[in-house]
Amino acid sequence: MTADIDHWLRPFALDEHLHAHAAEVIASLPHDVRRDLMDDPAFTMCDYEPAPGRVFHVPVKLSAKSRGPGRAVVLKRTLRRRPVDFVRWVIAHELAHAHLRNGGRWPGDDPEHAADALAGDWGFPRPVDFRF
Ligand SMILES: [Zn+2]
Repeated sequence: MTADIDHWLRPFALDEHLHAHAAEVIASLPHDVRRDLMDDPAFTMCDYEPAPGRVFHVPVKLSAKSRGPGRAVVLKRTLRRRPVDFVRWVIAHELAHAHLRNGGRWPGDDPEHAADALAGDWGFPRPVDFRF
């Protein structure tokens, strides 16, 4: 399983620390959620170094199924300097948005609250003392 995740993540070419954290989070996902993401050929993850005045273009794949842009999770490389529980919560929260296709769990559910709730269910609760 871990080797499969590592193999699947490689082409996204994340920073090595973020790659390791992402692998941990993905290994902790419920089976159906992990399959939803890993079996989607249009899903992609990337990271970037934020800098003043720099415009970052998110590489998205085209989804054959939806005929629109595929799901993408974008991480700032500065994340790697944050505490482990914070980094993993951010990754889980972003994967939850991807799994929920940026929506809620039901009509009217707030997408941010939904992403936090799912991340918490998966073992990555929002750290209490964090700041962005
Ligand atoms: Zn969010």
